[in-house]
Amino acid sequence: MKLYFVGTSHGVPESDRRCSSCIVEVNASYYLFDMGTQVIEDLRKRSIAVENVRLAICSHPHGDHTDGLISFVDLVNWYFKAADPLILLPDERLIPPLRAWITATMEGKPLREDLRIDTFREGAAYADENLRVTAIRTKHCENAYAFLIEAEGKKVLLTGDLCRPSVDFPQIAFDMDLDLLVCEAAHFSPDDCIPFFDKTKAKRILHTHIYDKRWAEALSRQLAAPHPYRYGAAFDGMEVTV
Ligand SMILES: [Zn+2]
Repeated sequence: MKLYFVGTSHGVPESDRRCSSCIVEVNASYYLFDMGTQVIEDLRKRSIAVENVRLAICSHPHGDHTDGLISFVDLVNWYFKAADPLILLPDERLIPPLRAWITATMEGKPLREDLRIDTFREGAAYADENLRVTAIRTKHCENAYAFLIEAEGKKVLLTGDLCRPSVDFPQIAFDMDLDLLVCEAAHFSPDDCIPFFDKTKAKRILHTHIYDKRWAEALSRQLAAPHPYRYGAAFDGMEVTV
């Protein structure tokens, strides 16, 4: 399983970071986790056929995790007609406005009838022959989730956005042998995370969604400190194989 970090910024794009998105590759199929930026451009840039995208799933409704859906769904609707990605959203209130926006850009023409836009709930959210996604509720907002991704015998946990580690750090991170844990660092300091990271069995831990101006001192200090797991900070364009 390979992860491409498309956007690793906090809620606002910065000069070198875009908003949240990660492309996961398994067996030449592609899965988009969060759509906070124009991921369709990254698929094109990397010569990834849009037809090979099986899933686009958003961890919670906030714009820095969903706004890139418009261009993706728009192009899948009228141009990449052979593409059949399942678009899974955490809140049904997102679906009518998404459909309405794209309809409006097409002068009222309805969307492709076979376009699959649906919601997911806590628990088993998605599965195919390559990978399985389990959604774990967090308390960041009304409908916010972390994602456990299992593929090729490996386990990756994306925390999505949290309230703070002492409130809603996913229990699964302590119970499972994670190959990779990707934890946000927008809403709290890396210092707040370390006591929880130390209780996990994760082999590797990366921060994403990084508010680097706010937490610069804590982040660089923690990155320099020794940890019992491989610890780091993701950046836009970073590729990780697990
Ligand atoms: Zn966010």
